[in-house]
Amino acid sequence: MTDRPLLLLDVDGPLNPYAARLPRLRGYTAHRLRPSNWSSRQAPGSRRLRRGLKVVLNPAHGPRLRALPFELAWATTWMHEANEMIAPVVGLPSDLPVIEWPELFAKNDDGLYWKTRPLLEWAAGRPFAWVDDMITRRDETYVAARHDAPALLLRIHPRRGLREADFLTLTRWAEEHGGAAGRGGAPSSGSAA
Ligand SMILES: [Mg+2]
Repeated sequence: MTDRPLLLLDVDGPLNPYAARLPRLRGYTAHRLRPSNWSSRQAPGSRRLRRGLKVVLNPAHGPRLRALPFELAWATTWMHEANEMIAPVVGLPSDLPVIEWPELFAKNDDGLYWKTRPLLEWAAGRPFAWVDDMITRRDETYVAARHDAPALLLRIHPRRGLREADFLTLTRWAEEHGGAAGRGGAPSSGSAA
């Protein structure tokens, strides 16, 4: 284990800006993939299933993420298929740790995002930054109250994906909170840009 904070990565939203309005996003290439979580929800033999799910990915993202002072891990419904299908396209190693969700899209009566509880458990008290398009203030409040180490919850708009400003935010946060010096600091949750 290193002293670096964790960077927990969502795929759809931050790496795959699925809500982008432009037909061609600069730096991105379109791919047709069949993640099992998506395939299992399509009609068998359907044209949609044959064509696959459209995913737009940016090969510059991997090198940028690897250059950050973090330890990367997947926090996505793609789970192990992120290593298999996403990592080679964006330029990330294919053996990143994966958060295995107990239940995908689990309903929470309290309105908490379904990823938040298991993600916090997985982080096991380590400082972490989390990039995801579904984070809300409720999740920030929850994490701030239950996680003693620094945490940055960075909401990424699914129309835009990870951008320069986000890499800057992550770098600055890691400089401030990462490493041994960041341990035991006051809990904090960053505001989404
Ligand atoms: Mg997402």
